[in-house]
Amino acid sequence: MILHVDMDAFFASIEQAINPRLKDKPLIVGSRGNKMRTVVCAASYAAKALGIHSGMPSREAFSICPKLEFVAADQAKYIWTSEQIFQLLKGYGLPLNYTSIDEFQLELASHPDPLNLAKKIKEQIYANFNITASVGIAKNWLLAKLASKLNKPDGLTLINDSNFEQVLRQTPLDKLCGMGGKIGANFMAGGLKSCWDLYLNLPGFFNESYDNSGKPNALPKSISHSYTLPEAKINPRVIQAWIRLLSEMVATRLRQQNLVSATVHLWLNGPEIGNFGAQKTHQVLTNDGYEIYQRTLKIMARSRIQNPRIRAIGVTCSSLSKGTDQPLLREEIRREGLIKALDRINNRFGEGSIYPAITVLTR
Ligand SMILES: [Mg+2]
Repeated sequence: MILHVDMDAFFASIEQAINPRLKDKPLIVGSRGNKMRTVVCAASYAAKALGIHSGMPSREAFSICPKLEFVAADQAKYIWTSEQIFQLLKGYGLPLNYTSIDEFQLELASHPDPLNLAKKIKEQIYANFNITASVGIAKNWLLAKLASKLNKPDGLTLINDSNFEQVLRQTPLDKLCGMGGKIGANFMAGGLKSCWDLYLNLPGFFNESYDNSGKPNALPKSISHSYTLPEAKINPRVIQAWIRLLSEMVATRLRQQNLVSATVHLWLNGPEIGNFGAQKTHQVLTNDGYEIYQRTLKIMARSRIQNPRIRAIGVTCSSLSKGTDQPLLREEIRREGLIKALDRINNRFGEGSIYPAITVLTR
């Protein structure tokens, strides 16, 4: 079992906890100090209720709500709080993954009372930092993360065998990690509406054992993700966006199991090319999604495939070994690099970017 902790409107909540005058007010945290020329990087729940969300230009947010409170982002404060929460969770003595600045995962194995543990964690976070967290519990990280989102803010949700179908039927597909952007939109255009529809089409997506809690010492031979598009696509942007997303999914799982990989394998299937597969082994080991993506692009460049139609894509990392635990700051730098890389891709390819779908994975 995985217990996923997701802080509620993290940056905005920290600002409100520090300055009680801001409590319960519509508030945005801006990425720059000029409140009219920045982008919303966090919105409080009162602001969200008005339709204000992160990624929105601040000017637009102020036109929705002229009395909006504004605070310039203070990364150091957020990183510091994140580290304190990490230390608090470490105190439970369970394997702990730091998935992003405001998300943490505990591996429960066969904990006798996960709901009670979750309650304790939520209370402790609130008592120490005066901010709330939502907790999701399920058999793997994908479902635990989904569960944490279902009753936000201050939520506590368990997905188990008895409510699995009901929860998935009730949950729109775009709530699922990785399905927030173009990719989810593609699925929905193909007729999939709920997570249950996706489950019926791709059961492995949910059932794959993402958690390694059962066999902590067994090193997997490889980690891979693949995906079949609803129809064969030729647009290289779409193909690259998919490879990028699959690379990030593989990298996330490598990091969750504290693994690094030397060999990257790319598999493509399409009406003209049939099955294409090639791999390359590198001396520098990695568990970074962007690096894995770059390595797959090199494989593609060497293959001299000229914009074929692609129906299915797979990214596999093998030659695995144990990595060292990445400290918080290193992870932050990696995230920063990822976001810059995504910006570059978005700038190059313009609107209809891959940004939303991929950042969901890292948030
Ligand atoms: Mg959050």
